[in-house]
Amino acid sequence: MPETPETTTRTTRDMEPETTTDVLRDLALSRGTLDRAGNERRDEGLLGRLLADPATFVHELRGELLETASGDGGTTRLAVRAPLASDADRLVIDLGRDPAGHAHLVVVADPMEPDSADWSDGSDDAWVGLRESGERLGDEDAGIFTTALALANWHTRNTHCPRCGAPTEVVHAGWVRRCTADGSEHYPRTDPAVIMSVIDPDDRLLLGRAPHWPEGRFSVLAGFVEPGESFEAAVAREVREEVGVVVDDARYLGNQPWPFPASVMVGFTARTSDPTLVLDPVEMAEARWVSRDEYRAALRADEIRTPSGISIAKRLIEHWLGHPVEDVGGRTF
Ligand SMILES: [Zn+2]
Repeated sequence: MPETPETTTRTTRDMEPETTTDVLRDLALSRGTLDRAGNERRDEGLLGRLLADPATFVHELRGELLETASGDGGTTRLAVRAPLASDADRLVIDLGRDPAGHAHLVVVADPMEPDSADWSDGSDDAWVGLRESGERLGDEDAGIFTTALALANWHTRNTHCPRCGAPTEVVHAGWVRRCTADGSEHYPRTDPAVIMSVIDPDDRLLLGRAPHWPEGRFSVLAGFVEPGESFEAAVAREVREEVGVVVDDARYLGNQPWPFPASVMVGFTARTSDPTLVLDPVEMAEARWVSRDEYRAALRADEIRTPSGISIAKRLIEHWLGHPVEDVGGRTF
């Protein structure tokens, strides 16, 4: 019986209410365009055939870095190579096919250590991390890097069976690990976290600083979704726990995968009628409400630094601010 093709080429646009115009579009890591061709993964001969085909595009992941090259018009693109004989001895994962029909594989050059050290030695800046390159990559490459990193992180952390502790082996073209003792199959997991702009009756934004952050680094609040909890309930709980504020009207704005190591960040905005702050010192060193003018002034005065780059936090702040933070100036983190 033919399998139903997976609908994984859908993007966040498909989740957005049609009548809402102020959602977060084109988040840096939500732009993947490869056809994941998930129905091909059970074919045990798939990786062997693709590795024998010189038309296959291989992305070699070293630590958390992929090789990049300069593209047209100052853009950055991922470098690809043909398969090597030595690839068969490495962890190989099928990422899918591009519109031209090329298969894309990621080959993990060496086992990744959690929070592994940067491979770059300063002499070869073509090897870059996703945080640094995510914004500059095109849609297809951003999706390739995000998926490759998420899967490599999962493999590194799931070498043994959670049921019995025996080693697991890689099957289904890199998308499943199977226990060598009891045959149980284990799938890549993604841990959802909510992240939210909280706004008070005066249209001020709530910013917080975590205890391990340096002075001046402020962002919106975030936290992992707990078992048995909806995203909206997680928004309300995290805000109440961290700063003692009760919110209502949590509204979804967008989401993006966040493979550092295994999350998806689900963005919301929520309102409160009472801005009184009661901080949990374990979770929050400092929190403050800022008006748009105060935020701009604090950035210019270097009193606060703002989230940068690929983060959804930056986009949530800009959604409230009404324009890019780059228009203000100041330092980022
Ligand atoms: Zn087992």
